[in-house]
Amino acid sequence: MKAAILQERGRNGLRVRDVPMPVRRPGEVLLRVHAAALNRVDLYMRDNGAGITHRLPQTLGVEAAGVVVEADADSGLEIGLHPGKKAVVYANAFCGKCRYCLAGDQPLCLHAHIMGEHRDGGFAEYVAMPARCVLPLPDHVDLVEAGALLAAYLTAWRMLFGKRALRPGETVLIAGVGGGVAVACLQLALHAGARVLVTSSSDDKLARAQAMGASGGVNYRREKVAKRVLEMTSGEGVDMVIDSSGAASWDDSLRSLRRGGRLVTCGATTGSNPPADLQRIFIRQLEVYGSTGGSVAECHQLLALFASGAIRPVIDRRFVLDDIGAAFDQLEHGNQFGKVVVTMA
Ligand SMILES: [Zn+2]
Repeated sequence: MKAAILQERGRNGLRVRDVPMPVRRPGEVLLRVHAAALNRVDLYMRDNGAGITHRLPQTLGVEAAGVVVEADADSGLEIGLHPGKKAVVYANAFCGKCRYCLAGDQPLCLHAHIMGEHRDGGFAEYVAMPARCVLPLPDHVDLVEAGALLAAYLTAWRMLFGKRALRPGETVLIAGVGGGVAVACLQLALHAGARVLVTSSSDDKLARAQAMGASGGVNYRREKVAKRVLEMTSGEGVDMVIDSSGAASWDDSLRSLRRGGRLVTCGATTGSNPPADLQRIFIRQLEVYGSTGGSVAECHQLLALFASGAIRPVIDRRFVLDDIGAAFDQLEHGNQFGKVVVTMA
Protein backbone atom coordinates (compact mmCIF):
# COMPACT_ATOMS: atom_id res chain seq x y z
CA MET A 1 0.00 0.00 0.00
CA LYS A 2 0.99 3.65 -0.29
CA ALA A 3 1.74 5.75 2.78
CA ALA A 4 3.28 9.17 3.53
CA ILE A 5 6.30 8.48 5.65
CA LEU A 6 8.56 10.91 7.44
CA GLN A 7 12.06 9.62 6.70
CA GLU A 8 13.93 12.60 8.14
CA ARG A 9 13.07 16.08 9.41
CA GLY A 10 12.31 18.85 6.99
CA ARG A 11 10.26 19.55 3.92
CA ASN A 12 11.96 16.92 1.79
CA GLY A 13 11.87 14.28 4.49
CA LEU A 14 8.23 13.35 3.90
CA ARG A 15 7.79 10.85 1.05
CA VAL A 16 4.98 8.74 -0.33
CA ARG A 17 6.26 5.16 -0.47
CA ASP A 18 5.06 1.63 -1.01
CA VAL A 19 5.09 -0.19 2.31
CA PRO A 20 3.66 -3.50 3.60
CA MET A 21 -0.01 -3.53 4.63
CA PRO A 22 -0.55 -3.17 8.39
CA VAL A 23 -1.04 -6.49 10.13
CA ARG A 24 -4.21 -6.39 12.20
CA ARG A 25 -3.77 -7.85 15.68
CA PRO A 26 -6.63 -9.34 17.72
CA GLY A 27 -8.73 -6.53 19.18
CA GLU A 28 -7.84 -4.21 16.32
CA VAL A 29 -9.77 -3.02 13.30
CA LEU A 30 -8.23 -2.67 9.84
CA LEU A 31 -9.59 0.39 8.06
CA ARG A 32 -9.26 1.30 4.37
CA VAL A 33 -8.63 5.03 4.72
CA HIS A 34 -10.62 7.36 2.50
CA ALA A 35 -9.56 10.74 3.88
CA ALA A 36 -7.31 12.25 6.54
CA ALA A 37 -6.93 15.94 7.35
CA LEU A 38 -3.67 17.72 8.08
CA ASN A 39 -3.06 19.36 11.43
CA ARG A 40 -0.43 21.72 12.80
CA VAL A 41 1.13 18.82 14.69
CA ASP A 42 1.97 17.15 11.36
CA LEU A 43 3.98 20.20 10.31
CA TYR A 44 5.60 20.36 13.72
CA MET A 45 6.63 16.71 13.53
CA ARG A 46 7.94 17.11 10.01
CA ASP A 47 10.14 20.06 10.90
CA ASN A 48 10.98 19.62 14.58
CA GLY A 49 9.14 17.02 16.65
CA ALA A 50 10.83 17.97 19.94
CA GLY A 51 8.75 16.78 22.88
CA ILE A 52 6.97 14.08 20.89
CA THR A 53 8.49 10.69 21.61
CA HIS A 54 8.67 8.81 18.35
CA ARG A 55 11.07 7.17 15.97
CA LEU A 56 11.76 7.77 12.30
CA PRO A 57 10.62 6.59 9.86
CA GLN A 58 7.05 7.37 10.93
CA THR A 59 3.80 7.29 8.96
CA LEU A 60 2.18 10.65 9.72
CA GLY A 61 -1.50 11.54 10.01
CA VAL A 62 -3.49 11.93 13.25
CA GLU A 63 -6.86 11.54 11.56
CA ALA A 64 -8.51 8.90 9.38
CA ALA A 65 -11.98 8.11 8.12
CA GLY A 66 -12.75 5.18 5.91
CA VAL A 67 -14.35 1.78 5.65
CA VAL A 68 -13.81 -1.26 7.90
CA VAL A 69 -12.03 -4.07 6.08
CA GLU A 70 -11.40 -6.51 8.89
CA ALA A 71 -12.31 -6.77 12.58
CA ASP A 72 -12.71 -9.41 15.27
CA ALA A 73 -15.83 -11.47 14.65
CA ASP A 74 -17.53 -10.14 17.77
CA SER A 75 -16.81 -6.47 16.97
CA GLY A 76 -19.58 -6.46 14.40
CA LEU A 77 -22.15 -7.59 16.94
CA GLU A 78 -20.92 -5.48 19.82
CA ILE A 79 -20.12 -2.15 18.28
CA GLY A 80 -21.14 -2.38 14.65
CA LEU A 81 -17.66 -2.59 13.14
CA HIS A 82 -18.42 -5.12 10.43
CA PRO A 83 -16.60 -5.04 7.08
CA GLY A 84 -18.01 -2.37 4.81
CA LYS A 85 -19.03 -0.10 7.69
CA LYS A 86 -17.97 3.54 7.51
CA ALA A 87 -15.91 4.56 10.54
CA VAL A 88 -13.65 7.27 11.91
CA VAL A 89 -10.57 6.88 14.09
CA TYR A 90 -10.19 8.34 17.57
CA ALA A 91 -6.43 8.85 17.28
CA ASN A 92 -5.48 8.36 20.92
CA ALA A 93 -4.95 4.63 21.54
CA PHE A 94 -5.63 5.12 25.25
CA CYS A 95 -4.78 2.39 27.76
CA GLY A 96 -8.26 2.10 29.28
CA LYS A 97 -6.73 1.24 32.67
CA CYS A 98 -5.09 4.32 34.19
CA ARG A 99 -6.93 6.63 36.59
CA TYR A 100 -7.71 9.10 33.81
CA CYS A 101 -9.07 6.48 31.42
CA LEU A 102 -11.18 4.99 34.21
CA ALA A 103 -12.60 8.47 34.82
CA GLY A 104 -13.44 8.79 31.10
CA ASP A 105 -10.76 11.44 30.59
CA GLN A 106 -8.80 9.72 27.81
CA PRO A 107 -6.88 12.84 26.66
CA LEU A 108 -5.00 12.66 29.96
CA CYS A 109 -4.16 8.92 29.62
CA LEU A 110 -0.77 8.10 31.16
CA HIS A 111 0.03 5.60 28.40
CA ALA A 112 -1.44 7.28 25.33
CA HIS A 113 -0.22 6.15 21.93
CA ILE A 114 -1.33 8.62 19.30
CA MET A 115 -1.88 7.49 15.72
CA GLY A 116 0.55 9.37 13.51
CA GLU A 117 2.89 10.14 16.41
CA HIS A 118 3.59 6.91 18.28
CA ARG A 119 2.06 4.43 15.86
CA ASP A 120 1.39 4.34 12.12
CA GLY A 121 -0.79 7.25 11.02
CA GLY A 122 -3.67 8.00 8.71
CA PHE A 123 -1.80 9.27 5.63
CA ALA A 124 -1.92 5.74 4.25
CA GLU A 125 -4.26 3.54 2.30
CA TYR A 126 -4.83 1.33 5.35
CA VAL A 127 -4.45 1.73 9.09
CA ALA A 128 -5.00 -0.65 12.02
CA MET A 129 -6.21 0.67 15.38
CA PRO A 130 -7.70 -0.86 18.56
CA ALA A 131 -11.44 -1.42 18.15
CA ARG A 132 -12.14 0.95 21.08
CA CYS A 133 -10.66 3.76 18.94
CA VAL A 134 -12.72 3.05 15.80
CA LEU A 135 -16.16 4.64 15.87
CA PRO A 136 -18.83 3.57 13.39
CA LEU A 137 -20.52 6.19 11.24
CA PRO A 138 -23.92 6.15 9.55
CA ASP A 139 -23.91 5.35 5.85
CA HIS A 140 -25.03 8.80 4.72
CA VAL A 141 -22.06 10.79 6.06
CA ASP A 142 -19.33 12.15 3.80
CA LEU A 143 -16.01 10.45 4.52
CA VAL A 144 -13.92 13.47 3.49
CA GLU A 145 -15.76 15.57 6.05
CA ALA A 146 -15.45 12.76 8.63
CA GLY A 147 -11.70 12.68 8.01
CA ALA A 148 -11.50 16.35 8.94
CA LEU A 149 -13.55 16.14 12.12
CA LEU A 150 -11.76 14.51 15.01
CA ALA A 151 -8.72 16.68 15.53
CA ALA A 152 -10.04 20.21 15.10
CA TYR A 153 -13.70 19.75 15.99
CA LEU A 154 -13.13 17.51 18.98
CA THR A 155 -10.44 19.86 20.27
CA ALA A 156 -12.85 22.76 19.77
CA TRP A 157 -15.64 20.85 21.50
CA ARG A 158 -13.62 20.32 24.68
CA MET A 159 -12.37 23.90 24.70
CA LEU A 160 -15.88 25.32 24.44
CA PHE A 161 -17.90 22.81 26.43
CA GLY A 162 -15.35 20.94 28.56
CA LYS A 163 -14.47 22.57 31.87
CA ARG A 164 -16.69 25.64 31.98
CA ALA A 165 -19.13 25.24 29.15
CA LEU A 166 -19.97 28.17 26.93
CA ARG A 167 -23.64 28.99 27.42
CA PRO A 168 -26.25 30.38 25.04
CA GLY A 169 -26.12 34.16 25.00
CA GLU A 170 -22.51 34.36 26.15
CA THR A 171 -19.88 36.04 24.01
CA VAL A 172 -16.69 34.25 22.95
CA LEU A 173 -13.64 35.76 21.24
CA ILE A 174 -11.76 33.42 18.89
CA ALA A 175 -8.20 34.58 18.28
CA GLY A 176 -6.81 33.97 14.81
CA VAL A 177 -9.74 32.62 12.83
CA GLY A 178 -8.85 30.59 9.75
CA GLY A 179 -7.06 27.59 11.21
CA GLY A 180 -8.99 24.37 11.65
CA VAL A 181 -9.59 24.61 15.42
CA ALA A 182 -10.62 28.28 15.26
CA VAL A 183 -13.12 27.69 12.44
CA ALA A 184 -14.47 24.67 14.33
CA CYS A 185 -14.89 26.84 17.44
CA LEU A 186 -16.75 29.42 15.37
CA GLN A 187 -19.23 26.84 14.05
CA LEU A 188 -19.74 25.04 17.36
CA ALA A 189 -20.10 28.25 19.39
CA LEU A 190 -22.70 29.61 16.97
CA HIS A 191 -24.54 26.30 17.09
CA ALA A 192 -24.59 26.57 20.89
CA GLY A 193 -26.28 29.97 20.67
CA ALA A 194 -23.29 32.09 21.65
CA ARG A 195 -22.23 35.41 20.16
CA VAL A 196 -18.85 35.13 18.44
CA LEU A 197 -16.14 37.72 17.81
CA VAL A 198 -13.03 36.83 15.82
CA THR A 199 -9.58 38.22 15.09
CA SER A 200 -7.36 37.72 12.06
CA SER A 201 -4.63 39.47 10.09
CA SER A 202 -6.71 38.93 6.95
CA ASP A 203 -9.77 40.99 6.05
CA ASP A 204 -10.83 38.14 3.78
CA LYS A 205 -10.87 35.67 6.67
CA LEU A 206 -12.75 38.16 8.87
CA ALA A 207 -15.34 38.57 6.12
CA ARG A 208 -15.71 34.82 5.74
CA ALA A 209 -16.15 34.36 9.48
CA GLN A 210 -18.78 37.09 9.56
CA ALA A 211 -20.57 35.51 6.59
CA MET A 212 -20.74 32.31 8.67
CA GLY A 213 -22.32 34.18 11.57
CA ALA A 214 -19.60 35.93 13.59
CA SER A 215 -20.90 39.20 15.03
CA GLY A 216 -17.69 41.14 14.70
CA GLY A 217 -14.09 40.92 13.54
CA VAL A 218 -10.86 42.69 14.45
CA ASN A 219 -7.85 42.87 12.16
CA TYR A 220 -5.00 42.59 14.67
CA ARG A 221 -2.49 44.04 12.19
CA ARG A 222 -4.37 47.35 12.04
CA GLU A 223 -6.47 47.58 15.18
CA LYS A 224 -5.96 47.28 18.92
CA VAL A 225 -7.72 44.02 19.71
CA ALA A 226 -8.69 44.50 23.36
CA LYS A 227 -9.88 48.07 22.75
CA ARG A 228 -12.08 46.98 19.84
CA VAL A 229 -13.44 43.99 21.78
CA LEU A 230 -14.43 46.25 24.69
CA GLU A 231 -16.17 48.58 22.23
CA MET A 232 -18.11 45.64 20.82
CA THR A 233 -19.16 44.41 24.27
CA SER A 234 -20.38 47.70 25.82
CA GLY A 235 -17.11 48.05 27.70
CA GLU A 236 -17.53 44.78 29.56
CA GLY A 237 -15.38 42.25 27.70
CA VAL A 238 -16.15 38.72 26.55
CA ASP A 239 -17.09 35.71 28.67
CA MET A 240 -14.55 33.40 27.04
CA VAL A 241 -11.47 33.67 24.85
CA ILE A 242 -10.20 30.81 22.70
CA ASP A 243 -6.48 31.25 22.08
CA SER A 244 -4.33 28.79 20.16
CA SER A 245 -1.66 31.30 19.22
CA GLY A 246 0.11 31.90 22.53
CA ALA A 247 2.59 34.70 23.14
CA ALA A 248 1.53 37.01 20.31
CA SER A 249 -2.12 37.23 21.34
CA TRP A 250 -1.94 36.49 25.07
CA ASP A 251 -1.99 40.06 26.38
CA ASP A 252 -4.95 41.01 24.17
CA SER A 253 -6.74 37.80 25.13
CA LEU A 254 -6.46 38.56 28.86
CA ARG A 255 -7.46 42.19 28.33
CA SER A 256 -10.50 41.21 26.27
CA LEU A 257 -12.06 39.18 29.10
CA ARG A 258 -14.83 40.45 31.33
CA ARG A 259 -14.39 40.15 35.09
CA GLY A 260 -14.60 36.45 35.98
CA GLY A 261 -14.09 35.45 32.33
CA ARG A 262 -12.15 32.44 31.14
CA LEU A 263 -9.26 32.02 28.74
CA VAL A 264 -8.80 28.62 27.13
CA THR A 265 -5.50 27.80 25.46
CA CYS A 266 -4.82 24.91 23.10
CA GLY A 267 -1.67 25.99 21.34
CA ALA A 268 1.41 28.17 21.44
CA THR A 269 2.55 28.52 17.85
CA THR A 270 3.81 32.08 18.50
CA GLY A 271 5.56 31.25 21.77
CA SER A 272 4.95 29.43 25.01
CA ASN A 273 5.93 31.96 27.67
CA PRO A 274 3.97 35.23 27.50
CA PRO A 275 3.90 37.45 30.62
CA ALA A 276 1.34 35.85 32.94
CA ASP A 277 -0.03 39.20 34.19
CA LEU A 278 -0.97 37.59 37.51
CA GLN A 279 -2.28 40.83 38.96
CA ARG A 280 -4.91 41.03 36.24
CA ILE A 281 -5.77 37.37 36.70
CA PHE A 282 -6.43 37.51 40.44
CA ILE A 283 -7.97 40.97 40.73
CA ARG A 284 -10.40 40.31 37.89
CA GLN A 285 -10.76 36.66 38.99
CA LEU A 286 -10.02 35.28 35.55
CA GLU A 287 -9.74 31.58 34.83
CA VAL A 288 -6.98 30.33 32.56
CA TYR A 289 -6.88 26.68 31.56
CA GLY A 290 -5.51 24.39 28.91
CA SER A 291 -7.23 21.91 26.69
CA THR A 292 -6.16 19.31 24.18
CA GLY A 293 -8.10 16.68 22.29
CA GLY A 294 -11.38 15.40 23.67
CA SER A 295 -12.74 12.33 25.44
CA VAL A 296 -14.52 9.37 23.87
CA ALA A 297 -17.79 10.59 25.39
CA GLU A 298 -17.28 14.05 23.88
CA CYS A 299 -16.42 12.35 20.60
CA HIS A 300 -19.78 10.55 20.59
CA GLN A 301 -21.57 13.85 21.24
CA LEU A 302 -19.71 15.49 18.37
CA LEU A 303 -20.36 12.56 16.02
CA ALA A 304 -24.09 12.70 16.80
CA LEU A 305 -24.13 16.37 15.83
CA PHE A 306 -22.12 15.62 12.67
CA ALA A 307 -24.40 12.73 11.70
CA SER A 308 -27.44 14.98 12.11
CA GLY A 309 -25.97 17.39 9.57
CA ALA A 310 -25.91 20.28 12.04
CA ILE A 311 -22.12 20.63 11.81
CA ARG A 312 -20.18 20.11 8.58
CA PRO A 313 -16.42 20.66 8.66
CA VAL A 314 -15.21 23.49 6.47
CA ILE A 315 -12.85 22.00 3.90
CA ASP A 316 -10.36 24.51 2.53
CA ARG A 317 -8.71 22.27 -0.06
CA ARG A 318 -8.29 18.58 -0.77
CA PHE A 319 -5.25 16.84 -2.24
CA VAL A 320 -4.54 13.26 -3.29
CA LEU A 321 -1.98 11.34 -1.26
CA ASP A 322 0.70 11.65 -3.94
CA ASP A 323 0.47 15.45 -3.60
CA ILE A 324 0.75 15.52 0.17
CA GLY A 325 3.80 17.79 -0.07
CA ALA A 326 1.62 20.48 -1.64
CA ALA A 327 -0.97 19.93 1.10
CA PHE A 328 1.72 20.58 3.73
CA ASP A 329 2.74 23.73 1.83
CA GLN A 330 -0.85 24.95 1.91
CA LEU A 331 -1.01 24.49 5.69
CA GLU A 332 2.42 25.99 6.23
CA HIS A 333 1.60 29.17 4.33
CA GLY A 334 -1.36 29.77 6.61
CA ASN A 335 -3.70 30.96 3.87
CA GLN A 336 -6.28 28.31 4.58
CA PHE A 337 -9.76 28.77 6.00
CA GLY A 338 -10.79 25.44 7.49
CA LYS A 339 -9.24 22.04 6.92
CA VAL A 340 -6.72 20.80 4.38
CA VAL A 341 -7.52 17.16 3.58
CA VAL A 342 -5.74 14.33 1.82
CA THR A 343 -7.78 11.63 0.09
CA MET A 344 -6.35 8.20 -0.64
CA ALA A 345 -8.45 7.25 -3.66
ZN1 LIG B 1 -5.03 5.47 30.25
